[in-house]
Amino acid sequence: MLDWKDGQPFSSRFGDVYFSTESGLEETRHVFLQGNELGRRFAAMCAGESICIGETGFGTGLNFLCAWQLFEHTAPLGASLDFFSTEKYPIDDDALSAALVLWPELVVQASALLASWRRRVSGWNRWHFAGGRIRLTLALEDVAQALPQLPSHSVDAWFLDGLSPTKNPQMWSDEVLMAIARASHAGTTLTAYTSAGRVQDSLQVAGFEVKRVPGYSRKWEMTQGRFVSSDSQSSPAKGAPPRSALIIGGGLAGCAAAHALAQRGIQVTLVESASQLASAASGNPRGILHARFAAGMNILHRFVLASYGHALGLLDEVMPVDDVLRAECGLLQLAATESEAKRIGKLAAQEWPPHLLQAVDAEQASQLAGLPMMHGGLWFPAGGWVVPPEVSARLVQHPNIIIQLDSEVTSLERTASGWHASGDGFVIEAEQAVVCSAHQAKKLAQFAGCPLLPVRGQISMLAATDASSRMQAVLCAEGYCAPAVEGQHVAGATSSFDDDGTDIREVDHAENLAKISAQMPELRQALGDIQPASGRAGVRCSAPGAMPLVGEVELGLYCSLAHGTRGLLTAGIAAEIIAAQMCGQLPPLPADILDALSPLPRMGRSGSVVAPASNGGRQ
Ligand code: SAM
Repeated sequence: MLDWKDGQPFSSRFGDVYFSTESGLEETRHVFLQGNELGRRFAAMCAGESICIGETGFGTGLNFLCAWQLFEHTAPLGASLDFFSTEKYPIDDDALSAALVLWPELVVQASALLASWRRRVSGWNRWHFAGGRIRLTLALEDVAQALPQLPSHSVDAWFLDGLSPTKNPQMWSDEVLMAIARASHAGTTLTAYTSAGRVQDSLQVAGFEVKRVPGYSRKWEMTQGRFVSSDSQSSPAKGAPPRSALIIGGGLAGCAAAHALAQRGIQVTLVESASQLASAASGNPRGILHARFAAGMNILHRFVLASYGHALGLLDEVMPVDDVLRAECGLLQLAATESEAKRIGKLAAQEWPPHLLQAVDAEQASQLAGLPMMHGGLWFPAGGWVVPPEVSARLVQHPNIIIQLDSEVTSLERTASGWHASGDGFVIEAEQAVVCSAHQAKKLAQFAGCPLLPVRGQISMLAATDASSRMQAVLCAEGYCAPAVEGQHVAGATSSFDDDGTDIREVDHAENLAKISAQMPELRQALGDIQPASGRAGVRCSAPGAMPLVGEVELGLYCSLAHGTRGLLTAGIAAEIIAAQMCGQLPPLPADILDALSPLPRMGRSGSVVAPASNGGRQ
């Protein structure tokens, strides 16, 4: 919902306008872009360099779109922009669309933002624009919750745009301003529309030099500030991204990492022991986009939610919905067991945006499924299925990526200039290395102590009948079944821990069918008297606690491992984390989730893997 007053967006909640009633666009340019001297700073950047803007109220995204437009006009090719913003009360799709219609000169940027907007989840979102040069990290939560999760010294310029301090004091609290200071470094600039004395005093206490300068139009004064610090640590050296990286493992995790690094201009060599990419767990003919959360939304489930939103956006970029390789048919989680009914009941009692999930009764579930359903549950409108090997193939279609198949890396050694990977008859050198080889990683000395477990999983292909062909959404309980494509349903999947067998087992087919019989009897009936036609077994990699291992292991060595059954969702955001760490850019997720993903504690090593983004000192 967005209110309007005199043809302009207006916040009834706070009794204040989103931007100047005269011209929001010109106000943004004056207060935030010129106020932070961004035209000059963008133009002074070099290829490979990134700059980070932080904002305290995303609203309609006007400031973001203007910063993006200026960046594209002034920054050299190869430079990139991180824009971080927070928004506690995101407006809906129609409201955003209506608000952005006001700015015809931003139509290209606005339509790209709108396409990503429909993928938003609560918590942190990471979207790419302009071929990956512009990265938006949008924390849909309270500003006081979001800002302390930023790495120290990571922001180069601030847009303080949290409505008037008298109408929304929470946005200007000492706590918020101290968090802004913590994420700043010597030379970080800020501007604010307000020139309120209390805000300026608090900014000074937090470490900013502030002054009043002429505001936009009839507004006499606004605030301009610069962070000053005697602490030399607060002005970190600017790290350049590496020129080259090698990636071990050509499943979804490795292909996603290759994509994220190549997009940042890094020359990538992807090494895979098999004769084709996505030959292990990522090789199933179809995989489902299935996000499952506990009602308490612990850290794992906050990560899964962020991963789900990110995966949908990444798929939109590399493999738009076409109903052949990807279908957005929706997904139903059925309240088919007592424990599921309890979990679903608790989630249904919470507030969710309808584009993300909706609670449905049996009648609504039947309509959505296309088959009569005994149980209601949760409806995920953006859920569906994809062909995972095709996703992998699309992710590595980039001129910066070289693929080397049939090459098992048996040794990884540090050299004076980086890493040296070797195997039978080949050697690859690169500045940095990323290990994405699932449980096979344990064969490398650096990962020998890693708690990685192979988990065998078998899917069953079931011949569709006339009745089962009417099914039009993915159905999930303890097992799952996808709608028929070319006369076949995919049902799955078994989980056998510490088992790396890829043989097809009748007992596993029976288990997949038994789950359908017990929890989706309507579907079992529609399938008639069938036997699985065929199946596929793959080996996933899991770690205790189900949190993947993602991040830096030692200087210049990273891993993306143990994605378990969620690789389709989590591989992409894991790749973003590694790329950001490698390039000294803003991470896509809050520090507490990054800490939980860190491989170090689980490998028995100490130290913080969440290296502060090493932007710094740009003037
Ligand atoms: N920058 C915006 C634009 O370009 O459209 C205008 C921002 S508007 C002046 C301020 C925004 O801050 C509103 O969208 C409001 O919902 C949001 N907001 C208010 N209180 C907040 C809080 N505690 N945490 C995060 N966002 C908040």
